[in-house]
Amino acid sequence: MTAVWIIDACDFIAAFLFIYGLKRMSSPVTARSGIVVAGYGVLVATLASFLYIFGVTGDAALHLNVNIALAVIALVVGLGWAWWSGKRVPLTSMPQMVALYNGFGGGAAGAIAAVELLGGTSVGGIHLSVTMVGALIGSVSFSGSLIAWAKLDGRVNKPWRVKGQHIYNALVLLATIAVGVWLVTLVVGGAASIAPIVGLFFGLALIYGIMLTMPIGGADMPVIISMYNALTGLAVGLDGFALQNPALMIAGMVVGSAGSLLTILMARAMNRSISNVMFSNFGDVSLESTSEIKGRMKPVEASDAAISMRYASKVIIVPGYGLAAAQAQQKLYEFVKQLQSGGVDVKFAIHPVAGRMPGHMDVLLAEAGVPYDMIAELDEINEDFATTDVALVIGANDVVNPAARTDKASPIYGMPILNVDRAHQVYVIKRGQGKGYAGVENELFFADNTNMIYGDARGVLVKMIQAVKELGGEADNAA
Ligand code: NDP
Repeated sequence: MTAVWIIDACDFIAAFLFIYGLKRMSSPVTARSGIVVAGYGVLVATLASFLYIFGVTGDAALHLNVNIALAVIALVVGLGWAWWSGKRVPLTSMPQMVALYNGFGGGAAGAIAAVELLGGTSVGGIHLSVTMVGALIGSVSFSGSLIAWAKLDGRVNKPWRVKGQHIYNALVLLATIAVGVWLVTLVVGGAASIAPIVGLFFGLALIYGIMLTMPIGGADMPVIISMYNALTGLAVGLDGFALQNPALMIAGMVVGSAGSLLTILMARAMNRSISNVMFSNFGDVSLESTSEIKGRMKPVEASDAAISMRYASKVIIVPGYGLAAAQAQQKLYEFVKQLQSGGVDVKFAIHPVAGRMPGHMDVLLAEAGVPYDMIAELDEINEDFATTDVALVIGANDVVNPAARTDKASPIYGMPILNVDRAHQVYVIKRGQGKGYAGVENELFFADNTNMIYGDARGVLVKMIQAVKELGGEADNAA
């Protein structure tokens, strides 16, 4: 009797851990442990793959003839680099890291497919076709994710477009598919030297990923990263089918379906369709509106703003990327607790694409210990701004830009925004005149009911806390 059941059991446990981990990731309270659980799943699946190498199954057909030393070196290098970079990465650079890891996932899926093709283990047209689809998707996801990484990291700043781009893209895709079909017929026909054609196929697929991503503007990157995440999952799942590996199949499908749902939700949050994101020139700064903004930015002292909030009855706080950059979440919650102890009703309003990754603001506020019942999503709270005394915007810009409602030439036109401008008084904390991620001016900052508090979010909040503290002291003295 072979010991295949050991591998089957490992695959089952790994699959269970992936699904259970994902379930736990659905709430900020359990998300951290969900990641650890899914990590154990990866560990079990990795160890199980060594069982094939050591021939534990007792089945010669399942014995993988792999250079163990090279496999271990690859594991150690990968683990070491991921551990080192994961420890060092600041929260604000997490999207770049996700894009990079996602790209590696797609690249690994493509590489597995290449080994399958060159090793001649894929037999039968259907099996081969699935391998080719996995190879195509994995490679596109690899090169596309690397471009997304370069854009998020500020290494590629401008969308790169040429006239007739969509036609060139379509031609490269068609050529890739044609070479793929040719490859399948060659392998099924038992052709010997297919390596150059495999190289051509992967070269074209990688170029297609670059050409697909280069024209897409920065403002669309959240949707694009999430879409590549889904594609990587799909490629891994298809590889799992080609290798007849259930753990890979399940992990791939879990990532693929979760990524697809996230892509749809992100696109919906920006009021866009996926095809519109892919094929329109949204996020093009060159389309920026030329309409002039009236009014002027009016600075105010942090202490004056703090005291006016202390005497308000209802305050809504809108955090954005700048809060993360300043790492000011703890100070923010300290200030909020001061307001609450003075009887002020305080809520947080979270925009779905605030910050630089899905759930970025939720993670920050959870880190500071803000209770979940104080945090509201855009749909839940948007009506409330009109009856709010003060809206405090901290390091947010695009997600509160009213141009999204009215200015058809604006690259963020159509994206639902938080209706901060409808509050009676708006305070905006930011360092200076810097624009938001989409690179456009924000008329909110010039509005009659808006005052600017210039400075790093953390420094401003320290001053605000001090001002309210002193106010408390004065009140005590007066009493
Ligand atoms: P924005 O990037 O639009 O604006 C951030 C603002 O914060 C800037 O105007 C900047 O102004 C200010 N700021 C920066 N550092 C500090 C600091 N230390 N202290 C105080 N203020 C600071 O942020 P939003 O959150 O409003 O919008 C997110 C944008 O990012 C959207 O366009 C979204 O599409 C995009 N995006 C979102 C992703 C996601 O998944 N959530 C992923 C990738 C992109 P100043 O320089 O003057 O201080």
